[in-house]
Amino acid sequence: MLLIEAGPDTPPDNVPDIIYDSYPSLAYFDPRYHWRELRVCHEAYREGGAPLKLRKFEQAKVMGGGSSINGQFALRGLPGDFAEWRAMGLEGWSFEDVLPYFKKLERDNDFEGPLHGKEGRIPIRRVFEDRWPGFTTAVHQAFQAEGFPVKEDLNADFGDGCFPMTLSNQYDRRVSTAVGYLDSATRRRANLRILADTAVTGLLMEGRKVTGVRASLPDGSEQRFEAGEVILSAGAAHSPALLMRAGIGPADHLKSVGVAVAADLPGVGGNLLEHPSISLAMHMKPEARLPEGRRRHIFMGLRYSSHLGDCPEGDMFLLPGNRAGWHPLGKQLGTFILTVHKSYSQGLLRLKSASPADEPIVAMNLASDPRDLRRLMDGMRLMQRVLAQPALKNAVNFWFPAGYSDRVRALAIPTLRNYLATGMAARLIELSGWTRDLVYRKKLNPGIDCDRLGRDDAYLTQWIAENVWPSWHISGTCRMGRGDDPAAVVDAKCRVLGIGGLRVVDASVMPTIVSANTNISTIMIGEKIAAEILAE
Ligand SMILES: Cc1cc2nc3c(=O)[nH]c(=O)nc-3n(C[C@H](O)[C@H](O)[C@H](O)COP(=O)(O)OP(=O)(O)OC[C@H]3O[C@@H](n4cnc5c(N)ncnc54)[C@H](O)[C@@H]3O)c2cc1C
Repeated sequence: MLLIEAGPDTPPDNVPDIIYDSYPSLAYFDPRYHWRELRVCHEAYREGGAPLKLRKFEQAKVMGGGSSINGQFALRGLPGDFAEWRAMGLEGWSFEDVLPYFKKLERDNDFEGPLHGKEGRIPIRRVFEDRWPGFTTAVHQAFQAEGFPVKEDLNADFGDGCFPMTLSNQYDRRVSTAVGYLDSATRRRANLRILADTAVTGLLMEGRKVTGVRASLPDGSEQRFEAGEVILSAGAAHSPALLMRAGIGPADHLKSVGVAVAADLPGVGGNLLEHPSISLAMHMKPEARLPEGRRRHIFMGLRYSSHLGDCPEGDMFLLPGNRAGWHPLGKQLGTFILTVHKSYSQGLLRLKSASPADEPIVAMNLASDPRDLRRLMDGMRLMQRVLAQPALKNAVNFWFPAGYSDRVRALAIPTLRNYLATGMAARLIELSGWTRDLVYRKKLNPGIDCDRLGRDDAYLTQWIAENVWPSWHISGTCRMGRGDDPAAVVDAKCRVLGIGGLRVVDASVMPTIVSANTNISTIMIGEKIAAEILAE
Protein backbone atom coordinates (compact mmCIF):
# COMPACT_ATOMS: atom_id res chain seq x y z
CA MET A 1 0.00 0.00 0.00
CA LEU A 2 1.24 3.46 -0.90
CA LEU A 3 0.13 6.53 1.08
CA ILE A 4 0.74 9.83 -0.69
CA GLU A 5 0.48 13.18 1.12
CA ALA A 6 1.21 16.55 -0.46
CA GLY A 7 2.33 18.13 2.82
CA PRO A 8 5.11 17.27 5.29
CA ASP A 9 5.12 14.10 7.37
CA THR A 10 4.81 14.16 11.18
CA PRO A 11 6.50 10.90 12.24
CA PRO A 12 6.37 9.95 15.96
CA ASP A 13 9.83 11.35 16.71
CA ASN A 14 9.25 14.58 14.81
CA VAL A 15 5.80 16.03 15.45
CA PRO A 16 6.15 19.82 15.44
CA ASP A 17 5.30 21.47 18.79
CA ILE A 18 2.75 23.64 17.06
CA ILE A 19 0.83 20.54 15.95
CA TYR A 20 1.00 18.87 19.36
CA ASP A 21 -0.08 22.14 21.02
CA SER A 22 -3.34 21.86 22.94
CA TYR A 23 -3.98 25.49 22.00
CA PRO A 24 -4.91 24.86 18.37
CA SER A 25 -5.13 28.33 16.90
CA LEU A 26 -1.45 28.60 15.99
CA ALA A 27 -1.67 25.48 13.82
CA TYR A 28 -4.95 26.74 12.28
CA PHE A 29 -3.23 29.62 10.57
CA ASP A 30 0.34 28.40 10.12
CA PRO A 31 1.03 28.67 6.38
CA ARG A 32 3.54 25.79 6.52
CA TYR A 33 0.62 23.39 6.88
CA HIS A 34 -1.90 24.88 4.43
CA TRP A 35 -2.76 25.00 0.79
CA ARG A 36 -1.64 28.59 0.62
CA GLU A 37 -3.20 29.54 -2.69
CA LEU A 38 -6.68 28.28 -1.84
CA ARG A 39 -9.29 31.05 -1.73
CA VAL A 40 -13.05 30.79 -1.35
CA CYS A 41 -15.96 33.17 -1.64
CA HIS A 42 -18.75 33.16 0.92
CA GLU A 43 -21.36 33.98 -1.72
CA ALA A 44 -22.94 31.91 -4.51
CA TYR A 45 -21.10 30.90 -7.69
CA ARG A 46 -21.94 33.08 -10.68
CA GLU A 47 -20.74 31.74 -14.01
CA GLY A 48 -19.53 34.60 -16.14
CA GLY A 49 -20.82 37.03 -13.48
CA ALA A 50 -19.05 39.67 -11.43
CA PRO A 51 -15.70 38.58 -9.97
CA LEU A 52 -16.08 36.77 -6.68
CA LYS A 53 -14.79 38.34 -3.44
CA LEU A 54 -12.07 35.90 -2.49
CA ARG A 55 -11.02 35.15 1.06
CA LYS A 56 -8.54 32.85 2.72
CA PHE A 57 -9.78 29.45 3.81
CA GLU A 58 -7.38 27.08 5.51
CA GLN A 59 -7.30 23.47 4.33
CA ALA A 60 -4.56 21.31 5.77
CA LYS A 61 -1.53 20.25 3.77
CA VAL A 62 0.25 18.00 6.24
CA MET A 63 0.14 14.33 7.25
CA GLY A 64 -3.13 13.75 9.09
CA GLY A 65 -4.88 16.48 7.09
CA GLY A 66 -7.26 18.67 9.05
CA SER A 67 -6.84 16.55 12.19
CA SER A 68 -3.28 17.92 12.46
CA ILE A 69 -4.35 21.57 12.55
CA ASN A 70 -7.97 21.58 13.69
CA GLY A 71 -9.59 22.64 16.96
CA GLN A 72 -9.41 19.04 18.33
CA PHE A 73 -13.17 19.01 18.99
CA ALA A 74 -14.18 15.38 18.77
CA LEU A 75 -17.96 15.22 18.41
CA ARG A 76 -19.87 12.44 16.73
CA GLY A 77 -22.61 13.22 14.24
CA LEU A 78 -26.06 12.80 15.80
CA PRO A 79 -28.16 9.64 15.30
CA GLY A 80 -30.67 11.69 13.25
CA ASP A 81 -27.95 12.58 10.71
CA PHE A 82 -27.40 8.94 9.87
CA ALA A 83 -31.13 8.16 9.89
CA GLU A 84 -31.32 10.83 7.19
CA TRP A 85 -28.54 9.13 5.16
CA ARG A 86 -30.31 5.79 5.50
CA ALA A 87 -33.61 7.38 4.41
CA MET A 88 -31.82 8.55 1.24
CA GLY A 89 -31.45 4.87 0.36
CA LEU A 90 -27.90 4.42 1.65
CA GLU A 91 -27.64 0.85 2.92
CA GLY A 92 -25.35 0.46 5.92
CA TRP A 93 -25.39 4.09 7.08
CA SER A 94 -28.02 4.12 9.85
CA PHE A 95 -26.73 5.14 13.30
CA GLU A 96 -26.79 1.48 14.39
CA ASP A 97 -24.63 0.66 11.34
CA VAL A 98 -22.04 3.37 11.95
CA LEU A 99 -21.87 3.17 15.75
CA PRO A 100 -19.38 0.24 15.73
CA TYR A 101 -16.94 2.42 13.76
CA PHE A 102 -17.37 5.43 16.04
CA LYS A 103 -16.53 3.04 18.87
CA LYS A 104 -13.66 1.45 16.96
CA LEU A 105 -11.87 4.71 16.30
CA GLU A 106 -11.99 6.00 19.90
CA ARG A 107 -10.36 5.37 23.21
CA ASP A 108 -12.61 7.35 25.53
CA ASN A 109 -10.68 8.35 28.63
CA ASP A 110 -13.69 9.37 30.70
CA PHE A 111 -16.72 7.20 29.95
CA GLU A 112 -17.53 3.62 29.16
CA GLY A 113 -20.69 1.69 28.31
CA PRO A 114 -22.38 0.44 25.17
CA LEU A 115 -21.80 3.66 23.22
CA HIS A 116 -18.07 3.90 23.86
CA GLY A 117 -14.86 2.34 22.62
CA LYS A 118 -11.83 1.81 24.81
CA GLU A 119 -9.17 0.60 22.38
CA GLY A 120 -9.31 2.87 19.35
CA ARG A 121 -6.50 4.91 17.86
CA ILE A 122 -7.92 8.29 18.87
CA PRO A 123 -8.02 9.12 22.58
CA ILE A 124 -10.97 11.30 23.52
CA ARG A 125 -11.10 13.28 26.72
CA ARG A 126 -12.83 16.21 28.36
CA VAL A 127 -11.67 18.90 30.76
CA PHE A 128 -14.21 18.93 33.57
CA GLU A 129 -15.69 21.87 35.47
CA ASP A 130 -13.15 21.91 38.29
CA ARG A 131 -10.45 22.95 35.76
CA TRP A 132 -12.40 25.68 33.98
CA PRO A 133 -11.23 29.29 34.13
CA GLY A 134 -13.50 32.13 35.25
CA PHE A 135 -15.05 33.16 31.93
CA THR A 136 -16.02 29.57 31.02
CA THR A 137 -17.53 29.05 34.47
CA ALA A 138 -19.49 32.30 34.16
CA VAL A 139 -20.86 31.27 30.75
CA HIS A 140 -21.81 27.90 32.18
CA GLN A 141 -23.81 29.64 34.90
CA ALA A 142 -25.41 31.95 32.35
CA PHE A 143 -26.42 29.00 30.15
CA GLN A 144 -28.09 27.39 33.16
CA ALA A 145 -29.87 30.65 33.98
CA GLU A 146 -31.21 30.55 30.40
CA GLY A 147 -32.68 27.13 31.22
CA PHE A 148 -30.16 24.75 29.62
CA PRO A 149 -29.38 21.56 31.57
CA VAL A 150 -25.90 20.50 32.63
CA LYS A 151 -24.72 17.36 30.80
CA GLU A 152 -21.56 15.28 30.80
CA ASP A 153 -21.01 13.21 27.68
CA LEU A 154 -21.49 14.86 24.28
CA ASN A 155 -20.82 11.61 22.43
CA ALA A 156 -23.44 9.50 24.21
CA ASP A 157 -26.12 11.92 25.40
CA PHE A 158 -27.54 13.41 22.22
CA GLY A 159 -29.91 15.88 23.86
CA ASP A 160 -29.54 19.59 24.43
CA GLY A 161 -27.42 20.99 27.23
CA CYS A 162 -24.04 22.38 28.22
CA PHE A 163 -21.31 19.76 28.03
CA PRO A 164 -17.57 19.61 28.61
CA MET A 165 -16.13 19.51 25.07
CA THR A 166 -14.90 16.16 23.77
CA LEU A 167 -11.30 16.51 22.55
CA SER A 168 -8.97 14.36 20.43
CA ASN A 169 -6.23 15.04 22.89
CA GLN A 170 -4.23 13.24 25.54
CA TYR A 171 -1.86 14.56 28.21
CA ASP A 172 -2.78 18.04 26.93
CA ARG A 173 -1.42 17.22 23.45
CA ARG A 174 -3.28 16.91 20.14
CA VAL A 175 -3.70 13.40 18.75
CA SER A 176 -4.12 13.74 14.99
CA THR A 177 -4.94 10.79 12.74
CA ALA A 178 -1.24 10.79 11.80
CA VAL A 179 -0.22 10.54 15.46
CA GLY A 180 -2.97 8.02 16.31
CA TYR A 181 -2.88 5.74 13.27
CA LEU A 182 0.63 6.11 11.84
CA ASP A 183 2.55 5.07 14.93
CA SER A 184 5.99 3.45 14.74
CA ALA A 185 4.64 -0.10 14.61
CA THR A 186 2.32 0.75 11.72
CA ARG A 187 5.10 2.54 9.87
CA ARG A 188 7.26 -0.58 10.13
CA ARG A 189 4.69 -2.71 8.28
CA ALA A 190 6.26 -4.28 5.21
CA ASN A 191 3.20 -3.55 3.07
CA LEU A 192 3.09 0.20 3.75
CA ARG A 193 5.10 2.87 1.98
CA ILE A 194 4.63 6.55 2.80
CA LEU A 195 5.48 9.39 0.45
CA ALA A 196 5.14 12.86 2.00
CA ASP A 197 5.73 16.21 0.26
CA THR A 198 4.40 14.47 -2.85
CA ALA A 199 1.36 15.87 -4.65
CA VAL A 200 -0.90 13.74 -6.81
CA THR A 201 -1.26 15.66 -10.07
CA GLY A 202 -3.62 13.33 -11.90
CA LEU A 203 -5.34 9.96 -12.10
CA LEU A 204 -4.14 7.37 -14.63
CA MET A 205 -7.13 6.17 -16.64
CA GLU A 206 -7.73 3.35 -19.07
CA GLY A 207 -11.17 4.09 -20.46
CA ARG A 208 -13.47 4.06 -17.45
CA LYS A 209 -10.98 2.43 -15.10
CA VAL A 210 -8.45 4.14 -12.87
CA THR A 211 -5.11 2.31 -12.89
CA GLY A 212 -3.00 4.55 -10.68
CA VAL A 213 -1.87 8.13 -10.12
CA ARG A 214 0.68 10.60 -11.38
CA ALA A 215 2.49 12.51 -8.67
CA SER A 216 5.05 15.23 -8.32
CA LEU A 217 7.92 14.19 -6.03
CA PRO A 218 9.81 16.49 -3.61
CA ASP A 219 12.65 16.89 -6.16
CA GLY A 220 10.16 18.22 -8.73
CA SER A 221 10.15 15.11 -10.91
CA GLU A 222 6.90 13.40 -11.95
CA GLN A 223 6.30 9.72 -11.36
CA ARG A 224 3.52 7.30 -12.25
CA PHE A 225 2.32 4.79 -9.67
CA GLU A 226 0.21 1.83 -10.84
CA ALA A 227 -2.46 0.59 -8.41
CA GLY A 228 -5.17 -2.05 -8.25
CA GLU A 229 -7.38 0.51 -6.55
CA VAL A 230 -6.96 4.23 -5.85
CA ILE A 231 -8.57 5.72 -2.74
CA LEU A 232 -8.89 9.46 -2.95
CA SER A 233 -8.94 11.17 0.47
CA ALA A 234 -7.87 14.65 -0.57
CA GLY A 235 -10.70 16.40 1.30
CA ALA A 236 -13.86 18.12 0.10
CA ALA A 237 -11.97 20.90 -1.70
CA HIS A 238 -9.41 18.77 -3.51
CA SER A 239 -11.05 15.37 -4.13
CA PRO A 240 -13.70 16.78 -6.50
CA ALA A 241 -11.03 18.85 -8.26
CA LEU A 242 -8.90 15.73 -8.84
CA LEU A 243 -11.96 13.88 -10.19
CA MET A 244 -12.85 16.71 -12.54
CA ARG A 245 -9.31 17.04 -13.89
CA ALA A 246 -9.48 13.33 -14.70
CA GLY A 247 -12.66 13.88 -16.69
CA ILE A 248 -15.08 12.69 -14.00
CA GLY A 249 -17.69 15.35 -13.38
CA PRO A 250 -20.34 17.55 -15.00
CA ALA A 251 -19.73 17.18 -18.75
CA ASP A 252 -20.59 20.78 -19.71
CA HIS A 253 -18.27 22.24 -17.12
CA LEU A 254 -15.43 19.85 -18.01
CA LYS A 255 -15.67 20.81 -21.67
CA SER A 256 -15.67 24.51 -20.75
CA VAL A 257 -12.24 24.11 -19.16
CA GLY A 258 -10.90 21.81 -21.88
CA VAL A 259 -11.05 18.49 -20.03
CA ALA A 260 -12.07 15.40 -22.02
CA VAL A 261 -15.08 13.75 -20.40
CA ALA A 262 -14.54 10.22 -19.06
CA ALA A 263 -17.78 10.02 -17.05
CA ASP A 264 -20.55 12.60 -16.92
CA LEU A 265 -21.23 12.81 -13.17
CA PRO A 266 -23.12 16.08 -12.64
CA GLY A 267 -22.89 15.83 -8.84
CA VAL A 268 -19.11 16.28 -8.61
CA GLY A 269 -18.40 19.64 -6.96
CA GLY A 270 -22.08 20.25 -6.15
CA ASN A 271 -23.71 19.88 -2.73
CA LEU A 272 -20.90 21.87 -1.09
CA LEU A 273 -21.83 21.87 2.60
CA GLU A 274 -20.47 23.99 5.45
CA HIS A 275 -21.49 25.04 8.95
CA PRO A 276 -22.04 28.81 8.94
CA SER A 277 -20.79 30.59 12.05
CA ILE A 278 -20.96 34.06 13.54
CA SER A 279 -18.96 35.23 16.52
CA LEU A 280 -18.61 37.83 19.24
CA ALA A 281 -15.62 38.80 21.36
CA MET A 282 -15.67 39.97 24.98
CA HIS A 283 -13.11 41.90 26.97
CA MET A 284 -12.74 39.74 30.09
CA LYS A 285 -12.05 40.98 33.58
CA PRO A 286 -8.60 39.82 34.75
CA GLU A 287 -9.93 37.13 37.11
CA ALA A 288 -11.98 35.56 34.27
CA ARG A 289 -8.98 35.08 31.95
CA LEU A 290 -7.08 31.89 31.23
CA PRO A 291 -4.28 31.61 33.81
CA GLU A 292 -0.78 32.08 32.34
CA GLY A 293 0.75 28.78 31.27
CA ARG A 294 -2.51 27.07 30.38
CA ARG A 295 -2.73 26.21 26.67
CA ARG A 296 -6.21 24.73 26.10
CA HIS A 297 -8.73 27.58 25.89
CA ILE A 298 -12.12 26.03 25.00
CA PHE A 299 -13.63 23.65 27.54
CA MET A 300 -17.40 23.67 27.30
CA GLY A 301 -20.10 23.94 24.65
CA LEU A 302 -23.85 24.30 24.41
CA ARG A 303 -25.88 22.11 22.06
CA TYR A 304 -29.42 23.43 21.64
CA SER A 305 -32.42 23.09 19.36
CA SER A 306 -33.71 26.02 17.35
CA HIS A 307 -37.19 24.44 17.04
CA LEU A 308 -37.45 26.26 13.72
CA GLY A 309 -39.80 24.60 11.22
CA ASP A 310 -38.47 21.24 10.04
CA CYS A 311 -34.99 21.67 11.56
CA PRO A 312 -34.07 18.68 13.75
CA GLU A 313 -33.28 18.70 17.46
CA GLY A 314 -29.73 19.62 18.44
CA ASP A 315 -29.20 21.69 15.28
CA MET A 316 -27.27 24.55 16.94
CA PHE A 317 -24.01 24.92 18.86
CA LEU A 318 -22.55 27.74 20.94
CA LEU A 319 -18.93 27.57 21.96
CA PRO A 320 -17.33 29.96 24.46
CA GLY A 321 -13.57 30.44 24.20
CA ASN A 322 -11.47 31.65 27.10
CA ARG A 323 -8.92 33.34 24.85
CA ALA A 324 -9.07 34.82 21.34
CA GLY A 325 -5.43 34.65 20.27
CA TRP A 326 -1.82 33.89 21.23
CA HIS A 327 -1.00 37.58 21.65
CA PRO A 328 -1.44 40.02 24.56
CA LEU A 329 -4.79 41.30 23.26
CA GLY A 330 -6.08 37.79 22.52
CA LYS A 331 -5.35 36.79 26.13
CA GLN A 332 -7.72 39.52 27.35
CA LEU A 333 -10.54 38.50 25.02
CA GLY A 334 -13.10 35.73 25.32
CA THR A 335 -15.24 34.60 22.39
CA PHE A 336 -18.62 33.14 21.48
CA ILE A 337 -18.79 31.07 18.31
CA LEU A 338 -22.37 30.39 17.25
CA THR A 339 -22.73 27.68 14.59
CA VAL A 340 -25.63 26.21 12.68
CA HIS A 341 -24.72 22.54 13.05
CA LYS A 342 -27.48 21.24 10.81
CA SER A 343 -27.18 23.61 7.88
CA TYR A 344 -28.96 23.48 4.53
CA SER A 345 -27.24 26.01 2.28
CA GLN A 346 -25.35 24.46 -0.62
CA GLY A 347 -22.35 25.89 -2.44
CA LEU A 348 -20.51 24.81 -5.56
CA LEU A 349 -16.96 23.89 -6.51
CA ARG A 350 -15.67 24.25 -10.07
CA LEU A 351 -12.31 24.07 -11.83
CA LYS A 352 -10.62 27.32 -12.71
CA SER A 353 -8.57 25.44 -15.28
CA ALA A 354 -7.46 21.90 -16.05
CA SER A 355 -4.04 22.57 -14.49
CA PRO A 356 -3.25 20.96 -11.10
CA ALA A 357 -1.36 24.16 -10.32
CA ASP A 358 -4.64 26.11 -10.15
CA GLU A 359 -6.75 25.79 -7.02
CA PRO A 360 -10.47 25.24 -7.72
CA ILE A 361 -13.15 27.93 -7.45
CA VAL A 362 -14.98 27.38 -4.18
CA ALA A 363 -18.25 29.27 -3.72
CA MET A 364 -19.66 28.59 -0.26
CA ASN A 365 -23.06 30.27 -0.61
CA LEU A 366 -23.10 30.55 3.18
CA ALA A 367 -26.41 31.08 5.02
CA SER A 368 -28.29 31.39 1.71
CA ASP A 369 -30.96 28.96 2.89
CA PRO A 370 -33.49 31.05 4.86
CA ARG A 371 -33.45 28.49 7.68
CA ASP A 372 -29.71 28.98 8.16
CA LEU A 373 -30.02 32.76 8.18
CA ARG A 374 -32.99 32.73 10.58
CA ARG A 375 -31.14 30.50 13.03
CA LEU A 376 -28.03 32.69 12.95
CA MET A 377 -30.26 35.67 13.71
CA ASP A 378 -31.94 33.86 16.60
CA GLY A 379 -28.49 32.74 17.76
CA MET A 380 -27.28 36.34 17.89
CA ARG A 381 -30.21 37.17 20.17
CA LEU A 382 -29.41 34.16 22.36
CA MET A 383 -25.79 35.30 22.69
CA GLN A 384 -26.97 38.77 23.69
CA ARG A 385 -29.33 37.32 26.29
CA VAL A 386 -26.53 35.17 27.71
CA LEU A 387 -24.24 38.20 27.88
CA ALA A 388 -26.88 40.07 29.86
CA GLN A 389 -26.97 37.36 32.56
CA PRO A 390 -25.52 38.54 35.91
CA ALA A 391 -22.80 35.85 35.89
CA LEU A 392 -21.37 37.25 32.68
CA LYS A 393 -21.82 40.86 33.59
CA ASN A 394 -19.43 40.09 36.45
CA ALA A 395 -16.86 38.51 34.12
CA VAL A 396 -16.94 40.81 31.09
CA ASN A 397 -16.20 44.53 30.65
CA PHE A 398 -17.65 44.92 27.15
CA TRP A 399 -18.29 42.92 23.99
CA PHE A 400 -18.24 43.49 20.24
CA PRO A 401 -18.95 41.55 17.02
CA ALA A 402 -15.97 39.61 15.69
CA GLY A 403 -15.04 37.09 13.02
CA TYR A 404 -12.20 35.55 11.03
CA SER A 405 -11.47 38.46 8.72
CA ASP A 406 -8.18 38.45 6.83
CA ARG A 407 -6.97 41.08 9.39
CA VAL A 408 -7.67 38.69 12.29
CA ARG A 409 -6.00 35.87 10.35
CA ALA A 410 -2.90 38.02 9.81
CA LEU A 411 -2.72 38.78 13.56
CA ALA A 412 -2.98 35.06 14.33
CA ILE A 413 0.56 34.50 13.03
CA PRO A 414 3.11 35.01 15.82
CA THR A 415 5.44 37.79 14.69
CA LEU A 416 7.19 40.55 16.65
CA ARG A 417 5.16 43.14 14.77
CA ASN A 418 1.88 41.46 15.73
CA TYR A 419 3.05 41.12 19.32
CA LEU A 420 3.90 44.81 19.57
CA ALA A 421 0.70 45.99 17.87
CA THR A 422 -1.60 43.83 19.99
CA GLY A 423 0.47 44.51 23.13
CA MET A 424 -0.04 48.24 22.65
CA ALA A 425 -3.80 47.81 22.16
CA ALA A 426 -4.03 45.58 25.26
CA ARG A 427 -2.21 48.17 27.39
CA LEU A 428 -4.34 51.04 26.15
CA ILE A 429 -7.55 49.14 26.94
CA GLU A 430 -6.43 48.72 30.55
CA LEU A 431 -4.94 52.19 30.94
CA SER A 432 -8.06 54.38 31.22
CA GLY A 433 -11.67 54.65 30.11
CA TRP A 434 -10.69 57.15 27.43
CA THR A 435 -7.95 54.98 25.86
CA ARG A 436 -10.20 51.90 26.09
CA ASP A 437 -12.91 53.78 24.23
CA LEU A 438 -10.38 54.87 21.61
CA VAL A 439 -9.18 51.30 20.92
CA TYR A 440 -12.78 50.10 20.88
CA ARG A 441 -13.88 52.66 18.30
CA LYS A 442 -10.77 52.63 16.14
CA LYS A 443 -9.76 48.97 16.20
CA LEU A 444 -12.16 46.56 17.85
CA ASN A 445 -15.53 47.79 16.68
CA PRO A 446 -15.38 50.51 14.10
CA GLY A 447 -19.03 51.25 13.43
CA ILE A 448 -21.29 48.34 14.44
CA ASP A 449 -24.18 49.29 16.73
CA CYS A 450 -24.35 46.28 19.08
CA ASP A 451 -27.75 47.15 20.56
CA ARG A 452 -29.23 47.57 17.10
CA LEU A 453 -28.05 44.06 16.15
CA GLY A 454 -30.44 42.84 18.83
CA ARG A 455 -33.54 44.69 17.69
CA ASP A 456 -33.29 45.49 13.97
CA ASP A 457 -33.70 42.43 11.71
CA ALA A 458 -32.63 44.21 8.53
CA TYR A 459 -29.47 45.55 10.21
CA LEU A 460 -28.65 42.11 11.64
CA THR A 461 -29.26 40.41 8.27
CA GLN A 462 -26.82 42.79 6.61
CA TRP A 463 -24.24 42.24 9.35
CA ILE A 464 -24.56 38.45 8.99
CA ALA A 465 -24.19 38.67 5.21
CA GLU A 466 -20.87 40.46 5.69
CA ASN A 467 -19.56 38.56 8.70
CA VAL A 468 -20.75 34.94 8.51
CA TRP A 469 -17.76 32.62 8.18
CA PRO A 470 -17.26 28.96 7.23
CA SER A 471 -16.29 26.68 10.12
CA TRP A 472 -13.70 24.71 8.07
CA HIS A 473 -16.21 21.82 7.90
CA ILE A 474 -16.44 21.73 4.10
CA SER A 475 -18.00 18.47 2.95
CA GLY A 476 -20.46 16.89 0.51
CA THR A 477 -18.81 17.65 -2.84
CA CYS A 478 -18.58 13.97 -3.95
CA ARG A 479 -21.68 12.83 -2.22
CA MET A 480 -22.85 9.28 -1.64
CA GLY A 481 -26.11 8.22 -3.19
CA ARG A 482 -27.95 5.46 -4.96
CA GLY A 483 -27.17 4.72 -8.60
CA ASP A 484 -30.49 6.27 -9.68
CA ASP A 485 -29.73 9.53 -7.82
CA PRO A 486 -28.58 12.06 -10.46
CA ALA A 487 -26.49 14.02 -7.93
CA ALA A 488 -24.68 10.96 -6.52
CA VAL A 489 -20.93 10.62 -7.10
CA VAL A 490 -20.11 7.51 -5.07
CA ASP A 491 -22.20 4.54 -3.95
CA ALA A 492 -22.72 3.42 -0.36
CA LYS A 493 -19.29 1.75 -0.42
CA CYS A 494 -17.70 4.99 -1.63
CA ARG A 495 -16.97 3.59 -5.13
CA VAL A 496 -17.10 6.25 -7.83
CA LEU A 497 -20.16 5.54 -9.96
CA GLY A 498 -19.40 4.25 -13.43
CA ILE A 499 -15.61 4.20 -12.87
CA GLY A 500 -13.58 1.13 -11.92
CA GLY A 501 -10.72 1.06 -9.42
CA LEU A 502 -11.57 4.31 -7.66
CA ARG A 503 -13.10 5.26 -4.33
CA VAL A 504 -13.42 8.59 -2.58
CA VAL A 505 -13.23 8.26 1.20
CA ASP A 506 -13.27 11.59 3.02
CA ALA A 507 -15.64 14.35 4.14
CA SER A 508 -16.70 14.96 0.55
CA VAL A 509 -18.86 11.81 0.49
CA MET A 510 -21.26 13.05 3.19
CA PRO A 511 -24.66 13.38 1.50
CA THR A 512 -25.88 15.84 4.14
CA ILE A 513 -23.76 17.57 6.73
CA VAL A 514 -23.54 16.01 10.19
CA SER A 515 -24.76 18.05 13.17
CA ALA A 516 -21.28 18.18 14.66
CA ASN A 517 -17.74 19.20 13.81
CA THR A 518 -16.83 16.91 10.93
CA ASN A 519 -13.53 15.25 11.87
CA ILE A 520 -14.74 12.30 13.94
CA SER A 521 -17.49 11.44 11.44
CA THR A 522 -14.89 11.55 8.65
CA ILE A 523 -12.63 9.15 10.54
CA MET A 524 -15.66 6.92 11.12
CA ILE A 525 -16.26 6.85 7.34
CA GLY A 526 -12.62 5.81 6.86
CA GLU A 527 -12.86 3.05 9.47
CA LYS A 528 -16.09 1.71 7.93
CA ILE A 529 -14.83 1.60 4.35
CA ALA A 530 -11.49 0.11 5.47
CA ALA A 531 -13.37 -2.70 7.24
CA GLU A 532 -15.46 -3.31 4.13
CA ILE A 533 -12.41 -3.42 1.86
CA LEU A 534 -10.74 -5.93 4.20
CA ALA A 535 -13.93 -8.02 4.24
CA GLU A 536 -13.99 -8.04 0.44
C1 LIG B 1 -8.58 25.05 10.78
C2 LIG B 1 -9.52 23.88 10.91
C3 LIG B 1 -10.18 23.66 12.12
C4 LIG B 1 -11.06 22.59 12.25
N1 LIG B 1 -11.57 22.27 13.48
C5 LIG B 1 -12.24 21.09 13.65
C6 LIG B 1 -12.54 20.59 14.94
O1 LIG B 1 -12.16 21.16 15.97
N2 LIG B 1 -13.23 19.42 15.03
C7 LIG B 1 -13.63 18.74 13.92
O2 LIG B 1 -14.30 17.71 14.07
N3 LIG B 1 -13.32 19.16 12.70
C8 LIG B 1 -12.59 20.29 12.54
N4 LIG B 1 -12.18 20.66 11.29
C9 LIG B 1 -12.61 19.86 10.15
C10 LIG B 1 -11.91 18.51 10.04
O3 LIG B 1 -10.55 18.62 10.34
C11 LIG B 1 -12.16 17.98 8.64
O4 LIG B 1 -13.53 17.74 8.48
C12 LIG B 1 -11.41 16.68 8.34
O5 LIG B 1 -10.03 16.84 8.51
C13 LIG B 1 -11.73 16.29 6.92
O6 LIG B 1 -10.95 15.18 6.56
P1 LIG B 1 -10.71 14.83 5.04
O7 LIG B 1 -9.99 13.53 5.03
O8 LIG B 1 -11.98 14.95 4.31
O9 LIG B 1 -9.78 15.98 4.44
P2 LIG B 1 -8.44 16.62 5.00
O10 LIG B 1 -8.34 16.42 6.46
O11 LIG B 1 -8.40 18.01 4.47
O12 LIG B 1 -7.29 15.76 4.36
C14 LIG B 1 -6.97 15.81 3.01
C15 LIG B 1 -5.49 15.53 2.85
O13 LIG B 1 -5.23 15.27 1.49
C16 LIG B 1 -4.06 15.96 1.12
N5 LIG B 1 -4.13 16.25 -0.32
C17 LIG B 1 -5.02 17.04 -0.96
N6 LIG B 1 -4.76 17.06 -2.27
C18 LIG B 1 -3.68 16.26 -2.47
C19 LIG B 1 -2.93 15.90 -3.61
N7 LIG B 1 -3.22 16.37 -4.83
N8 LIG B 1 -1.88 15.05 -3.45
C20 LIG B 1 -1.56 14.56 -2.22
N9 LIG B 1 -2.24 14.89 -1.10
C21 LIG B 1 -3.28 15.73 -1.23
C22 LIG B 1 -4.08 17.22 1.94
O14 LIG B 1 -2.80 17.81 1.99
C23 LIG B 1 -4.62 16.72 3.26
O15 LIG B 1 -3.60 16.30 4.12
C24 LIG B 1 -11.31 21.73 11.12
C25 LIG B 1 -10.63 21.94 9.93
C26 LIG B 1 -9.74 22.99 9.81
C27 LIG B 1 -9.01 23.19 8.51
